[in-house]
Amino acid sequence: MARQVVFATSEIYPFSKTGGLGDVMGALPLTLHKMGVPVAVVTPFYGRLRTGRQKIDHIADNLHVGYPWAPVAANVYSTTVQGMPVFFIDRAEYFDRKYYYNTVSQDYFDNAERFIFFCRASLALLRFLGTPPAVIHAQDWQAGLLPAYVHYYRRDDSFWAGTSTVCTVHNMAFQGRFASRLFDNCGLPWEAWNMNGVEFYGDLNMLKAGLNYADRITTVSPNYAREILQEENGYGLSGVLHNRAKDLLGIINGVDYSIWNPATSRFLSANYSPEDLEGKNKCKEDLIAELGMLPRMNKRPLFGFIGRLRGQKGIDLLNRIVPRLMERDVGIVVLGEGNEAYELESIALGRAYPGRYCAVVKYTEDLAHRIQAGCDSFLMPSRYEPCGLTQMYALKYGTPPVATAVGGLKDSIVPWPDPQATGFTYYHPDAQDLLETILEVCALWEDNQAAWRGMTVRAMNQNFSWDASAVKYLEMYRELGLRG
Ligand code: ADP
Repeated sequence: MARQVVFATSEIYPFSKTGGLGDVMGALPLTLHKMGVPVAVVTPFYGRLRTGRQKIDHIADNLHVGYPWAPVAANVYSTTVQGMPVFFIDRAEYFDRKYYYNTVSQDYFDNAERFIFFCRASLALLRFLGTPPAVIHAQDWQAGLLPAYVHYYRRDDSFWAGTSTVCTVHNMAFQGRFASRLFDNCGLPWEAWNMNGVEFYGDLNMLKAGLNYADRITTVSPNYAREILQEENGYGLSGVLHNRAKDLLGIINGVDYSIWNPATSRFLSANYSPEDLEGKNKCKEDLIAELGMLPRMNKRPLFGFIGRLRGQKGIDLLNRIVPRLMERDVGIVVLGEGNEAYELESIALGRAYPGRYCAVVKYTEDLAHRIQAGCDSFLMPSRYEPCGLTQMYALKYGTPPVATAVGGLKDSIVPWPDPQATGFTYYHPDAQDLLETILEVCALWEDNQAAWRGMTVRAMNQNFSWDASAVKYLEMYRELGLRG
């Protein structure tokens, strides 16, 4: 068997997803696989998966994980996606739960144990499969310990001697930081317990492990790679990144256009393309009807927001200016779940402005497509945004985004009034700038439909497919020793 690139990830669409990580893992490995790169994915077997229709085989029973303090074992399942192998690490007590990482009110108390287990079980699986990987590509803190294990194992275990590691950061704010006593559970040598290892102000930090030990570090847009080197955006780890700056690379995420495409999406009541936008009007009409909004909103600009209801996404900034926006008689649709206070605030606004502000506090993939298609403009008032996928989906759906000029938003939107504009950006993540920009959007939409249409078509013609980004990953894997 050819030596592979093995992705270790806590999410992979369509099996599991809470946000962009799921989408990225559903697309990047598969793009590489189709390019002929030997690729496999390892991921937890969540309870939710059991209801999936995919044929899944049980390939290992009681795989010894070598947990340092107890003889804990994993079951392993596998399937293929268009020929690409995906392995699922199963241990019901850790992964058969309603949510992935947290309930609405708090993180699961045993997240450290769950993801130490995931990392160790992934290594046990790779040994069981018998061929050492060329590269282990660890995603986010949940897989962050893998580069640390490989670093120490390859010193005196010939099986791992030729394995390189990559750590990709999808969001610096989530680091997997836990009490120091959990370091014992990792089973790493004592020398890892220092500030150049996994220790972070007296705690265990799993993302830091990835950043310190991986042979290469990547993040999900070139602009975010620059931003996280600054102290205010590094969440305490900008110093670590500075030390690794020559190994840090920003590669922009792509879009899986086989899923996110208004010309083919099966979730829409009408399909459309840049050549024929008629279907977009029908999508707007149907969205307004589906959500019980006022029919008059068909003649007004309709704005959409989709995302985790967290401070990062700026939902509080949007909600703060809703009364002002209502004076302008616009429609707003919010789809998201997350922080309970933001959920309640959005529901309350829905009651205060029935038929004009609509909050759907759930996670529904199909409605996300209909909002992208049915709205005129997409709101992304993020305080920071490592890459952001929803603005790229909005471009494809002809729904020019309004976004802060941060992270990947800056890398993916050409702002009005540039003749090549595909959307609108503003600099300060505050309510006033957001309000002014949305009012500017309203003015253009109302007064200059020709310019609006031009922008819509340009947005739809942008190409953020995975092909170009996958080539950059492949170049990096080759530098790290992948052959072929
Ligand atoms: P992040 O990874 O920070 O959550 P991204 O913009 O990169 O943000 O990706 C978010 C992904 O999650 C998109 O595919 C978006 O459509 C989806 N999403 C977020 N919230 C919801 C929701 N409530 N219902 C359906 N899809 C959602």
